[in-house]
Amino acid sequence: MERRKFIKAASVGAVAAGASTLAAPAIAQTAPKVSWRLTSSFPKSLDTIFGAAETMAKAVSEMTDGAFQIQVFAGGELVPGLQAADAVTSGTVEMCHTAPYYYVGKDPTFAFGTAVPFGLNSRQLSAWFRHGGGMELMNEFFAKYNIVGFPGGNTGTQMGGWFRKEIKTVADMTGLKMRIGGLAGRVLTKLGAVPQQIAGGDIYPSLEKGTIDAAEWVGPYDDEKLGFYKVAPHYYYPGWWEGGAALQFFVNQAKWAELPKTYQAILTSATALADIDMQAKYDAKNPAALKRLVQAGAQLHPFPTDVMDAAHKASIELYAEISKENAAFKKVHDAYMAFRNDEYLWWQIAEFGYDAFMIRARRG
Ligand code: CA
Repeated sequence: MERRKFIKAASVGAVAAGASTLAAPAIAQTAPKVSWRLTSSFPKSLDTIFGAAETMAKAVSEMTDGAFQIQVFAGGELVPGLQAADAVTSGTVEMCHTAPYYYVGKDPTFAFGTAVPFGLNSRQLSAWFRHGGGMELMNEFFAKYNIVGFPGGNTGTQMGGWFRKEIKTVADMTGLKMRIGGLAGRVLTKLGAVPQQIAGGDIYPSLEKGTIDAAEWVGPYDDEKLGFYKVAPHYYYPGWWEGGAALQFFVNQAKWAELPKTYQAILTSATALADIDMQAKYDAKNPAALKRLVQAGAQLHPFPTDVMDAAHKASIELYAEISKENAAFKKVHDAYMAFRNDEYLWWQIAEFGYDAFMIRARRG
């Protein structure tokens, strides 16, 4: 307010003096108008995930006094949600907000930009991206697709999904038809289950009819909206395939290079704001949603230990198989897993010790 008053007053003075350019503050003189389009992979109904792109765009606009505008489109408005990265590669849009693991069909290396089975949790993944060489490795890989990536939010550890019947042992996974995507589907195949690719809106009717036996989505806050508890009340945890599922902002390389340095810095800061804000929103909203789900009849179960052990073993086998045929995957995998091992060496001491005590104390 004060600044605007000053600009107005200064402009009036300058016009009177007949030298209007002297009045404009330095940033306004050098701030070109830039108008970008962002396509999200997500529907507006997922306010947590979709909202991260809006948070980012609003921050960019505010930091440039409205000179740099990024218009956010929901999945399907410009391009289908699962083709958001392709639209960035081709330059159809300047940027997108997406889950890199949607593109494992192009190359499984994309998965490390979101989550891999038995991978890093949300905090550890941020550490890897920002201070463990993770984004350098991912951007070296994304460059093949004309993409520059920026971490853009995390859901935290996801739930293991909704099952029509209880899973008592790993043998109960045989023949189980489960809606699940990406590399996790390939792990489940090794356990004898049958992964299914089904879009969000079609999951409920498939579960209700019994076309599928189980479905995973995100966690309490998002799952509640889809109402799965009514048709598949057994709610398992943890989602071992998404220990901390990250989203990313993808920017077209050439469009990024064209931006003034100030705008590059502003866009980088705005993505970081959205990144931290999304995790905070989930952490704030999940507890109440979990209480409501349990009151509505959801039955919480941890996955049996033999399911976790078998899935862990199958994941290691899968990584070895892919690494044999894909050098890019092996390079990122080896760095990521070395980082994970050191993270858990540390995590078992203070983080886990503190959380384990607080959970006991709360129950007592
Ligand atoms: Ca999921």
